[in-house]
Amino acid sequence: MLRIAMIGGGATAVSLLDSLLAQETGGDVAPEIHIYEPAHLGHGVAFRDDLDCALINLPNGRMSIRDDQRDHFLRWLRRHEGPPRPGRPEPGADGFAPRRVFGRYLRDHLAACQESARERGWRVTVHPETVLDVARAHDGGFLVRSDGGTRACTHVVLGVGPGGPADPYRLAGSPVFLGHPYPLKDRLAGISPGSHVLIIGTGLTAVDTVLALLAAGHRGPVTMLSRRGVLPEVLAPARDWPLTRADAAGIEQRKARDGTLTRRAIWELLHEELAAAGFDARAETGWYRPGRSAADHLRHQLTHPGANAVQSLFLSIPTPLARAIRAALPEEEVAAMLNDYKPRLRSLQCPMPPATARSLLSAMDAGQLRVLAGVREVRSARGSVTALAGDEVVTAQVAVDATRTTPARAKGRQGRLVAALRRNGLATWNAYGGLATDPGTARLIPARGAGPLGIFAVGELTAGDIYYASSLPAVNRGADVVAAQLLAERASRARPARRAARQVSTP
Ligand SMILES: Cc1cc2nc3c(=O)[nH]c(=O)nc-3n(C[C@H](O)[C@H](O)[C@H](O)COP(=O)(O)OP(=O)(O)OC[C@H]3O[C@@H](n4cnc5c(N)ncnc54)[C@H](O)[C@@H]3O)c2cc1C
Repeated sequence: MLRIAMIGGGATAVSLLDSLLAQETGGDVAPEIHIYEPAHLGHGVAFRDDLDCALINLPNGRMSIRDDQRDHFLRWLRRHEGPPRPGRPEPGADGFAPRRVFGRYLRDHLAACQESARERGWRVTVHPETVLDVARAHDGGFLVRSDGGTRACTHVVLGVGPGGPADPYRLAGSPVFLGHPYPLKDRLAGISPGSHVLIIGTGLTAVDTVLALLAAGHRGPVTMLSRRGVLPEVLAPARDWPLTRADAAGIEQRKARDGTLTRRAIWELLHEELAAAGFDARAETGWYRPGRSAADHLRHQLTHPGANAVQSLFLSIPTPLARAIRAALPEEEVAAMLNDYKPRLRSLQCPMPPATARSLLSAMDAGQLRVLAGVREVRSARGSVTALAGDEVVTAQVAVDATRTTPARAKGRQGRLVAALRRNGLATWNAYGGLATDPGTARLIPARGAGPLGIFAVGELTAGDIYYASSLPAVNRGADVVAAQLLAERASRARPARRAARQVSTP
């Protein structure tokens, strides 16, 4: 008997249910699945109802709930947008739908999966509850305690999504501070159109905030600031890049040469790979050195689409190779790499649509938007907020927190649950603020002394080092791995049966 507690009812839950149905090989006993979600069933935090300027950050043709069908969302979109009309062409694979539309797709597909599961005799129950604690039961399973009661389960899957804002300058409680910008349509509505707005952070949340202000007709200055002042990259067209230098053989050769893998060796391989593909490697990597202006980098990317060689190369590195590189790097090299490049790695892994970049650049060229690096302090006093960034002192009327905390520092529902898991010896931290998991099985690595358990994690909880684990493709791959593990355990207890084909179709 498989009784699964799926904690979090966002994208991971939808993807896991879909993967379980797709991979099912039959069995004597239908699984029982309990989805716990108190707030955002189906769509999670990212894809809730919000402004149309908040776009998905991968093209329609690559945002899907299925890893093996990257156009699944695109097909849904075309069915739901109706036939093309003059002035409204058919949604393209290269377009970027509003995130709220993707949220509708997720909800639709969750309903379709629930229906398909019911037809197979599975029991799928949604509990609008927050899970507070998970502890080991005497029979090797788990006791899942929520604000609605306690349930015994054989397996637990954590898909609790991204952490909240970090509030790095401890501004909570100040009347001029907005602790987070979502939903954009409500949170930013009270900002006076002529005021100077300071956005703490320069990642995708900060970009969302700028776009929402511009869409609302904001006239006052807007300043984005962070320590490095690095904006998300502009998403370059996908490019097939068969690696010839920075591949597994190249990594092994550098390890043999130096006795270990170093940042310097990776940097050399990157240059060799770029040069072998005909790029001026020094010029391409020059954009990633400190001191380059955010506006100039945006302009370069927008005027040379397809030439963002570093991003194309980075996105061509297959996951197993990335994992092998990560595993081969000594801890001190990883720590130094994160110190030097974490914002850059994040900006490569979380790019923005070109149309978004064009809006930012046009606000920069108009003198309304600035990006500052070197922020040292932000404080609020007497109805205003002041930031020290490099040599500049910037005073504004409002500050918006657009930062994101690591899982280790998360508060709220995620933070409480993770603290309980650690207290109970079910989870340990990785070195960079996420939960340690076995990448091959997605199982949590418990405290010393306990063997592998039936508790899995997918998404942001498992991130923290050089990997970004929260993008839809990463969530899909994680859900596939977890589904395979769960079904293998069921198959080992049940008699084999015919492999079922993928049968869920979204209305
Ligand atoms: C603003 C924003 C925009 C994003 N845009 C994109 C994008 O365009 N493309 C992309 O690939 N990725 C995007 N992401 C990343 C995105 O988070 C993932 O793609 C995806 O939503 C992650 O799915 P998830 O299931 O891990 O988290 P979510 O979909 O956020 O679901 C987690 C759920 O867990 C619930 N939960 C938390 N704690 C508990 C608890 N203790 N008990 C019960 N339930 C709990 C929460 O209520 C939440 O609904 C974005 C993220 C954010 C924050």
